[in-house]
Amino acid sequence: MKKIGVVGAGTMGRGITQFLAGKGKNVVLHDIKKQYIEDALESIEKRFKRLVEKDKITAQEKNEALGNIEITTDMKNLKDCDLIIEAATEKMDIKKKIFQDLDTVCPRETILATNTSALSITELATSTDRPEKVLGIHFFNPVPLMELVEVVKGLTTSEEILAQAREFIAGTGKTVVEVEESPGFIVNRILIPMINEAAFLLQEGTATAADIDTAMKKGANHPIGPLALADMIGIDVCLAIMETLHQELGDDKYRPCPLLKKKVRADQLGRKTGQGFYSYS
Ligand code: NAD
Repeated sequence: MKKIGVVGAGTMGRGITQFLAGKGKNVVLHDIKKQYIEDALESIEKRFKRLVEKDKITAQEKNEALGNIEITTDMKNLKDCDLIIEAATEKMDIKKKIFQDLDTVCPRETILATNTSALSITELATSTDRPEKVLGIHFFNPVPLMELVEVVKGLTTSEEILAQAREFIAGTGKTVVEVEESPGFIVNRILIPMINEAAFLLQEGTATAADIDTAMKKGANHPIGPLALADMIGIDVCLAIMETLHQELGDDKYRPCPLLKKKVRADQLGRKTGQGFYSYS
């Protein structure tokens, strides 16, 4: 797989594009507005520049990686891709429409993957005429740094497609775990309820955000506290995942903390809006 399409140029789409372009893959990055993809490209350029300043890559490697990236707002420009990774907003209706459109635009052999954190791969697959070629390829944030990728098998994903995706991802140097579809897969099924519980502790006034995070860093040896991590993931993304766990598993132990909802309503989404559980300015 040489040419990869990435749909959605937000936190994850940028990271996936930077990572794959840095590994010599041709990447076509798509979003709905020109401004969004231009902002994304600018931020990817900045990240590569920083890597040169830190002597992690050479200026030539930076230029080569940037030369591997194409940006577009026209989905038709994804038609030559061998694999497309959708990393758009975590909403089923948005993703279904994207998969329908990709199914129309791309030839039959193109593999369609989603980076969803918790939504059903099988449901997404039903919006295409190639359900056997639809799977989850779930990267973690920040993509260039996080070693893990969950490769997720929907009910209709073929073993052959799963093996191809595994091989491709492993070839980029990431560690792959294979997961049968289940809400939140492995990491988010465990991680997001922990963040939700930290939000409950804060809401109840049990401790400050800083002390909750310090407690988990020093008492549980986590490299980052749960509330700082929520700010990094995006509080809207955390809430969407928690809502999926609650709806799909039907157990009240997964009920989203009201403080997460309040933060999202106030557009305090974390690092990406400059304010979350902490301020970033
Ligand atoms: P984000 O809000 O930062 O970015 C989403 C992007 O999708 C935006 O740029 C938006 O304009 C674009 N978009 C919306 N509708 C679109 C459409 N119809 N066509 C093309 N682009 C469209 O979100 P994110 O944090 O990058 O998350 C993207 C996906 O990755 C979600 O499914 C999320 O659950 C998953 N994910 C997120 C994280 C994380 O830490 N943030 C980690 C792993 C997986």
